[in-house]
Amino acid sequence: MTLSRRAREIVDSPTLRLNEEARLLRERGQPVIHLGIGEPKNRTPISAVLSSASQLGKGEVKYTPTDGLPSLKKAIIRYTEENYGRLVDPENVIVSTGAKQALFNLLYTLLNPQDEVIILAPYWVSYPEMVKMVYGIPVVVVPEDGTFHPRLQDVEAAITSYTRAIIVNTPNNPSGMVFHEEFIAAIVEICERRGIYLIMDDIYHKLVFDGRTAPAAYRYTNKDVDNTRILVVNGISKLYGMTGFRIGWAVGPRKLVEIMTNVQAQTTSCPSPLLQSAAEGALNGVQNVVESLRLKMQNNRDVVMQEMTSFTGVRLNRPEGTFYALPDFRAYNPDSVALADLLLKRALVVTVPGREFGMEGHLRLSFSGTVKDLTEGIARMKWALDPESPNEIYIGDRKLVRDWL
Ligand code: PMP
Repeated sequence: MTLSRRAREIVDSPTLRLNEEARLLRERGQPVIHLGIGEPKNRTPISAVLSSASQLGKGEVKYTPTDGLPSLKKAIIRYTEENYGRLVDPENVIVSTGAKQALFNLLYTLLNPQDEVIILAPYWVSYPEMVKMVYGIPVVVVPEDGTFHPRLQDVEAAITSYTRAIIVNTPNNPSGMVFHEEFIAAIVEICERRGIYLIMDDIYHKLVFDGRTAPAAYRYTNKDVDNTRILVVNGISKLYGMTGFRIGWAVGPRKLVEIMTNVQAQTTSCPSPLLQSAAEGALNGVQNVVESLRLKMQNNRDVVMQEMTSFTGVRLNRPEGTFYALPDFRAYNPDSVALADLLLKRALVVTVPGREFGMEGHLRLSFSGTVKDLTEGIARMKWALDPESPNEIYIGDRKLVRDWL
């Protein structure tokens, strides 16, 4: 069978394989603990449910304007003003099917074949693949060993005459790091001066711990939205725990948004009005849902830090936001896929291999679930990997003895 070389080059994901194996194990009644999936366990905010239900009740579920329902765009404009101190026009906003589609459309709109996009490791798995899908070249900047914060001089050294964009995700999936203010300020300055687009993936921007805030790129430019190089991507998946609603958006110069709208018009037409109404409900409803999620995640982060202290051999940078931690397991095994495989088979714990994020030797643990799953999951990992831990454990009602270390 002849298939597109481009499509075949998109990497298959060990995570999906591990998730599938985990699903099959669960189906067979095995007590699998999932520390892989990045989604909060909350119920959908009631304002979102009511808003969507009322739209459905009208019995008029039709196409909306390609760039989104005007009423949702109004809510996004207010959100942007409140959270970023920027008053933007409806023409600066496009609603998409998740932040994922917003990012893809942006890259499709910005890149010519062979254009380069700078991506900062550890990175969200989809960035390099999306860049390749639009015939661009991902250029990965790796931080100094032991840290997850990119160095400005390394980013500058990666810039060439082909650099079209830099993607910055802070707080960061998978490391949980919040990038320093000076770094964001300097990146904004470089991008504005050199005419490079700065794509800020702000999907976790309010999930920041210990009284800190994630510095917003807009703070470091005086230019208005139509003249700046800053593009902000956001959505409801993480902050409102509404991953299944698939609504995200981009804010940027109107000329770019206009072309993105043409791109979206020819692919998906528009996101579903039912889901757009839900997003509108979430943005216009009581906002303490976001704060209570943030507090829960901060508490879960503390649990992870506490449980990991006795894990000799593992190094962990304290997450400052999101719901991910990226411990370094190289002392046990430098091959993260082999490690994740072992943890699933021996300890029935799902993790995500760091290789997927450009950080081999690490495993991403999602702490978006319950404290019980976190403590039990980490205890099982210790048992499976650490020769200093007791060699017997109960998993479900079975007592297991470690005989491989
Ligand atoms: N960016 C990052 C960094 C993410 O982690 C995710 C979701 N895992 C997305 C974008 C996509 O979000 P959405 O569900 O809105 O498509």
